[in-house]
Amino acid sequence: MTDCIFCKIANKEIGTDLIYEDEEIVAFNDINPQAPIHILVIPKKHIPSVVDLSDEDEALIGKMYTVIRKLAKKYNIEESGFRIIVNCKEDAGQEVPHLHFHILAGKKLGTKIV
Ligand code: AMP
Ligand code: ZN
Repeated sequence: MTDCIFCKIANKEIGTDLIYEDEEIVAFNDINPQAPIHILVIPKKHIPSVVDLSDEDEALIGKMYTVIRKLAKKYNIEESGFRIIVNCKEDAGQEVPHLHFHILAGKKLGTKIV
């Protein structure tokens, strides 16, 4: 999608440092980190949100978790732990309409979900 900031990052139209890349997925640091480690994992394909996934995206979502697992190892947070957040649309406060998984880590994140 031409006007999507995360598509531009994935297509390297914006010079964001990628901390992971394969054919289908990229990851990069959040520009406004909410924890010492705050990574965004996104599919290269423009999918606005979870409700826009189709059956053919099942393998892609499985792969997103494989990437998260690799990043957990790379950032040494396998034992200490981390939180994965996926906001979907307005009530969740989704700001960027391109599916993304937040990985938050590096401090105690608290126990409240909202
Ligand atoms: P959400 O509220 O779930 O849509 O999260 C969007 C996230 O994208 C926020 O945490 C922003 O800080 C982050 N963000 C927006 N623009 C950029 C960018 N150019 N590079 C990295 N992170 C970004
Ligand atoms: Zn996009």
